[in-house]
Amino acid sequence: MSDYQAPVKEMNFTLNDVIDVKEVTSLEKFQDADDDLIEAILIEGAKFTGDVLSPLNRIGDLNPSTVSDGVVTTPPGFKEAYQQYCENGWNGITANIEYGGQGLPHALGLPITEMVESANSSFSLCPMLTSSAILAIGKHGTEEQKNTYLEKLVSGVWSGTMNLTEPNAGSDVGALRSKAQKQSDGSYLIKGQKIYITYGEHEMAENIIHLVLARLPDAPEGTRGISLFIVPKYIINDDGSLGKRNDLTCVSLEHKMGIHGSPTCTMSYGDNNQCVGYLIGEENKGMMTMFTMMNDARLAVGSQGVALSERAYQMALEYANERVQGMSLKTRNQSPIIEHPDVRRMLMTIKSTTEAVRAIAYLNAKSIDLAQHHPDEKTAEKYRGLADLLTPLSKAYGSDLGIENSSLAMQIFGGMGYIEETGIAQVYRDARINAIYEGTNGIQAMDLVGRKLSIDNGKHWRALHDEISNFTEKLPETIEFAVIKKNLSKITAMSKECAEWLLSQHNESITNTMAGSVPYLRMLSTAVGCYLMAKGALSARNRLDNGDSDKEFLEGKIITSRYYAEQIVPTVLGLAEAIKAGDELFYAIDKNNFA
Ligand SMILES: Cc1cc2nc3c(=O)[nH]c(=O)nc-3n(C[C@H](O)[C@H](O)[C@H](O)COP(=O)(O)OP(=O)(O)OC[C@H]3O[C@@H](n4cnc5c(N)ncnc54)[C@H](O)[C@@H]3O)c2cc1C
Repeated sequence: MSDYQAPVKEMNFTLNDVIDVKEVTSLEKFQDADDDLIEAILIEGAKFTGDVLSPLNRIGDLNPSTVSDGVVTTPPGFKEAYQQYCENGWNGITANIEYGGQGLPHALGLPITEMVESANSSFSLCPMLTSSAILAIGKHGTEEQKNTYLEKLVSGVWSGTMNLTEPNAGSDVGALRSKAQKQSDGSYLIKGQKIYITYGEHEMAENIIHLVLARLPDAPEGTRGISLFIVPKYIINDDGSLGKRNDLTCVSLEHKMGIHGSPTCTMSYGDNNQCVGYLIGEENKGMMTMFTMMNDARLAVGSQGVALSERAYQMALEYANERVQGMSLKTRNQSPIIEHPDVRRMLMTIKSTTEAVRAIAYLNAKSIDLAQHHPDEKTAEKYRGLADLLTPLSKAYGSDLGIENSSLAMQIFGGMGYIEETGIAQVYRDARINAIYEGTNGIQAMDLVGRKLSIDNGKHWRALHDEISNFTEKLPETIEFAVIKKNLSKITAMSKECAEWLLSQHNESITNTMAGSVPYLRMLSTAVGCYLMAKGALSARNRLDNGDSDKEFLEGKIITSRYYAEQIVPTVLGLAEAIKAGDELFYAIDKNNFA
């Protein structure tokens, strides 16, 4: 199969015609990010990911990272590619200029992240976690910590990790037991074991900066008693050079279903009681600090779903055009399978849902930019609310679609899809983890209905629904927009009704709310997806009416939007009944009688 080619035109369309990235790039802070620069970055990103990272994807799958005596070796070619990645400045693309970054908005960083993830999921996780660590230290670190760590993390000479999970603390982070003890010099001694730590040990970077959650001796129970520590693999000397090796080791690597190239480490901290850590943020406020990292990583994981949907689509499309099987019902000739209605259905489903969820993720990134940098506090607040709301959608809808779409793509390959050589099985295997880590999708749905819907008394989700309704009313009354208008209106009304019902259950029975959380996340995601697809279609129609010559591409945007409204939205409308059914049947069978 051909290697991945980044969909630069699609990305440009999503940025400009769907999410209106100019709202971000017109801010003074981002004034250098004009159309030419955006185009150049996307084209260069496409070249790098297509030429350097994508060819290593299969190599990583077949040659997993290995560990020997605590030394981890990544797959052949990864280290050299990482060096190139850093030398080309991709690592610090959105980081602060003060620390050597390029200071570009997240709305432009995300398409590059998507390209890296499509090209090579396993590789992408190292820079992804480094980027989250940069954010956390940048936002919560002291000046000294920023000066010590940020430049090297931004350049990629050092990488970052995120250490929450322990054998007894997965979704319930508050159950973690790792300990921290304050020393007379202000540093802390860290002791404990962390599991599943992505890129916890490797040879691609000179130093690894672990961000580790641990508990102080008298800390309160649960998440209110957790603190966050910077724990470097090599302690940094006063002059910034690398000092002695810290007391931490990679004990073992996990054997996984997918992302074989990414080392997933069991890390042991303080076996010799000498593991030094430095508090970041305040004592017992570590979860808040960690959330800066997690929110960034959640968007990146959702983007990984977009990325793998895209890769699966490219592979399935090529195969569908090559594989001759059966007779076309239209021409009555032997034909490639792309002529068959069901193969068309699968391709259109992958294509339209990928476009929709890409738009959600990019809007999420744009909202983060405007929340942080818009000079008008009211506008910034609006986007803060929108970013809060969209993060679980990007993460869960993105990652679920990554799995569903790579499965559909495998179906298009028929038997060959199940055979490893075609590579589509790898995409499916790699996609599966995204629904699990960074907070399972079940946890994302609980976050949406339990917390995000009620922020500021529901002001933000109501504003979003109002915005969609106002937009829908103004859609043209043409045949082209008829189904879009009808079904967007239906799903928005239904999503609003379901949200009100879920909120009404907060005080009645919270398990009723939670029972409806996963289908509701799908419903809200589909409503927002349909809205953004409609925006793209409207922009495409306006451009065509104004004489834009890119006829095929723009008409294609209207068609995928119509397809999404006609074929995807109706499957979700039926969820309303399930969302509002409550938990009765969930608990009707006693847990001892399930067998
Ligand atoms: C390849 C890989 C890489 C990873 N990388 C990292 C990393 O770099 N750093 C890190 O800290 N962790 C990492 N993780 C850990 C990952 O984040 C956890 O696996 C994940 O959060 C789920 O925790 P768990 O495995 O303990 O599952 P559990 O928490 O045991 O959950 C099992 C099931 O129960 C559900 N569940 C649990 N609690 C609730 C609840 N209260 N309400 C409703 N449903 C619930 C879950 O949704 C899930 O379906 C990684 C894991 C893997 C497999």
